[in-house]
Amino acid sequence: MAKIRVLIAKPGLDGHDRGALVISQGLRDHGMEVVYTGLRQSPAQIAKAAIQEDVDVVGLSSLSGAHRTLFPKVVEELKAANASDIPVIGGGVIPAEDIPFLVEQGVKKIFTSGSSIEDLANYIIDLVSPTEKEITKKISHIGIAVKSIEQSLPFYIKKLGLKLEGMEEVESENVKVAFLKIGESRFELLEPTDDTSPIYKFIEKKGEGIHHIALDVDDIELRMRNLSKNGIQFINAEPKTGAHQSTIAFIHPKSAHGVLFELCEEAGGDQT
Ligand code: ZN
Repeated sequence: MAKIRVLIAKPGLDGHDRGALVISQGLRDHGMEVVYTGLRQSPAQIAKAAIQEDVDVVGLSSLSGAHRTLFPKVVEELKAANASDIPVIGGGVIPAEDIPFLVEQGVKKIFTSGSSIEDLANYIIDLVSPTEKEITKKISHIGIAVKSIEQSLPFYIKKLGLKLEGMEEVESENVKVAFLKIGESRFELLEPTDDTSPIYKFIEKKGEGIHHIALDVDDIELRMRNLSKNGIQFINAEPKTGAHQSTIAFIHPKSAHGVLFELCEEAGGDQT
């Protein structure tokens, strides 16, 4: 796995960075890559460095008492640069009564002088790890392009012994689909309804065959956001409605080593 990248920054005018250096070294000892900006950085400089260094989290340290203005300013600058997904945490000399205000301003967490490097490292690991909702648990279905569902069904039903679960038309894709259950997953036979259908074009170009693999996801918008953030391109920027009122989006094969993956959030949430 790639190392977690942390930017440690000292906004404002205070002139001591022993604490920040100790924290930087401590996080390195926990296997993280730490970029330290040095003293007296402006919030704008810190946000810029965070983006350039492509860090997973920004840690701010302040001893000067200016945290109430400077910490929220860094959050703001990140937001203005479209990088609000980079979480900001803070530490230093922060009176307990300031913490709720800073959290309200978008700082994820404040570490007071009593907390250990272990607390901080563990918090960062949890913060940047994929959440339960971001783990792909199963294949929803495999999409197979066919010229005619009617003509291909006997193979699946009579030869493979699968059961036809249902047929419907998906208007957004100009296709007719048939679902055949196989264990926890399905085959989705896709027949073009006219020559504007992407399936029509696919068959023209490559002939009948496997068209896409659909991954079952819990929260498609969250997944799209986080994948996009990591440089994955989508064919459709916004999720759309697929078969069975599911919500779907296609990852561009360029981003997936040549495979067309569909993200599929089934209607009604967890049905399995
Ligand atoms: Zn599909």
